[in-house]
Amino acid sequence: MTTTATSSGTSRATFAVGDEFSAKRIVDLLTESFEEGEAAIAAFENPEGRWDVTVHFADPPDEASIRNLVALASDDTVAGSIVFDTIEAKDWVKESLEGLVPVRAGRFIVHGSHDRDKVRDNQLGIEIEAALAFGTGHHGTTRGCLVYLDYVLRSKAPKRILDLGTGTGVLAIAAAKATKKHVLATDIDAMSVKVAHENMKLNGVGNLVETVCATGFSSPAIAKHAPFDLILANILANPLRAMATDMERHMASNGMVILSGLLPHQATSVIVAYRARGLVLLKQQIIEGWSSLLMQRAG
Ligand code: SAH
Repeated sequence: MTTTATSSGTSRATFAVGDEFSAKRIVDLLTESFEEGEAAIAAFENPEGRWDVTVHFADPPDEASIRNLVALASDDTVAGSIVFDTIEAKDWVKESLEGLVPVRAGRFIVHGSHDRDKVRDNQLGIEIEAALAFGTGHHGTTRGCLVYLDYVLRSKAPKRILDLGTGTGVLAIAAAKATKKHVLATDIDAMSVKVAHENMKLNGVGNLVETVCATGFSSPAIAKHAPFDLILANILANPLRAMATDMERHMASNGMVILSGLLPHQATSVIVAYRARGLVLLKQQIIEGWSSLLMQRAG
């Protein structure tokens, strides 16, 4: 079935492959071929033991190019089996959430309301409702941040925390639940701020997390709560590089920053930009083709 995407819908491509290795190769190639925001790519094992790959596109894709890319990473049979269709924009996050299994990262587990009862006593559940904002925990960048947040909290108890580019609020909720401290969550996008605020209330941390609409560091709320012991910023390589000076200025001495939203080949230039401001790299990891960094401001 081939459907032309309409402006009210989101274009989608779906297909299945036989094993995890093939799915990963395809996901890696597609991830490298799009800028963040152009396509959301996910692969999950289905009940038959095969792997379902789903790609949501911001704009209607060139179907022949997508088939060629998939053929490069697998074969013509898989490429020929891709189904392109369009789903209503308002439904796609909901639909993708409903099909998603809970995601674990360190002590955290991100889940939809349908999986509320799956949170064990030793886990911190983060419930994310269907909404048009980024951050269900299933993206490699979000998971990378949660893994580092869990790591940092094993040895530090940050008191002042900023989640810059909060999306659904997933990272701010995780930080507030784990630390019971005030968290400032900001986003450039007013809709995300609204969604994040609803998710804070849903997760019982509405009194701990302050959500504000702001571009980068330009907000009185940021000035008021700085310097931060921990900043989480899952944005993109270019804005993160551009923000290096502001980031350093808003960090406490020995403060930490978790940076994500970088493709592996962009990581070095981001590290260089932050090193130039006196930060040191503590850790770096790649999850599903996305790099995350943990850096610290010198004391
Ligand atoms: N923190 C969430 C969402 C990450 S997506 C997670 O980890 O899953 C990145 C978010 O950053 C988007 O919601 C986007 O609107 C926001 N954003 C992008 N540029 C920004 C900027 N300059 N200042 C503040 N927020 C920004």
